[in-house]
Amino acid sequence: MSGATIIDGKAVADEVLSGLKKEISTLKSKGIQPALAVILVGDDPASAVYVRMKGQDCEKIGIKSTTVRKPATMAEKELLDLVAQLNADKSVHGILVQLPMPEHIDEQKVIAAIDPRKDVDGFHPINVGNLIAGGECLESCTPAGVMELFHHYKIPVEGRQAVVIGRSNIVGKPVSIMLLRENATVTICHSRTKNLAEIVRQGDIVVAAAGKPGMVTGDMIKQGAVVIDVGTMKLENGKLCGDVDFDAAKEKASAITPVPGGVGPMTRAMLMKNTVIACKRQVEK
Ligand code: NAD
Repeated sequence: MSGATIIDGKAVADEVLSGLKKEISTLKSKGIQPALAVILVGDDPASAVYVRMKGQDCEKIGIKSTTVRKPATMAEKELLDLVAQLNADKSVHGILVQLPMPEHIDEQKVIAAIDPRKDVDGFHPINVGNLIAGGECLESCTPAGVMELFHHYKIPVEGRQAVVIGRSNIVGKPVSIMLLRENATVTICHSRTKNLAEIVRQGDIVVAAAGKPGMVTGDMIKQGAVVIDVGTMKLENGKLCGDVDFDAAKEKASAITPVPGGVGPMTRAMLMKNTVIACKRQVEK
């Protein structure tokens, strides 16, 4: 019998966006409009789609968005100058450099050049450091979106055994810190972890972010666990698929995210939220 709650990320994201829309209209009545600048270097088709979607989200809720498109041959110095220019522009509250960058550009250097107060991706070392130390920061969007799902569905985190699969800087590590901050007992698994199945089976909460289609099978899920699937891969038939064998896992889970329609829409909504937070902090100071 499957009694799992299917976590509707699209619905939660829509709620977040409509709350932001109201907040933005209040800001606008005071003459303030949050603004996001996106830098897209090169012509990676997936990046172009993501950037277009971000622009649409902005438009829907009243954020002013600009996309600066540059050729893949752009020099790193020129990109750093562009970031500096946007840092100095008081009418821009959020700066996002779409990753991945062409190989000749040092991504970490570019991220570190962004004013941390405008770093709406939450990747700047100052934001990452403050996330760990508990200071004011902009949180990276995917992990923040995962936490928002826990809050929205009133899923308790405190004292529970959380297993995170993946240790990347953009998902695995920050989501582990956020779960820890909310008093979960966190185990981080990665490509060198031994006995993955055994560890995942102990999870009251499982966050899968490995990018390996279907690697989390039904027998790895503890009865009643909450399963958050961050993985997003395109199969040969064009369908999107996650890290979790959804049909099998939902028979054991108490709540589970689908792919698509789970974490993906939350990531986009959190970018909008960060832009509004960044704007409010900058106009207040
Ligand atoms: P990544 O490749 O940077 O990291 C993958 C992590 O998984 C690594 O830390 C690696 O050690 C671990 N891993 C790989 N194989 C493993 C295995 N067999 N067992 C245990 N751990 C293993 O990827 P990422 O950028 O963190 O993204 C992970 C997945 O999440 C991808 O599918 C990506 O597309 C997806 N993603 C989705 C969103 C969203 O908004 N839904 C956002 C970011 C990433």
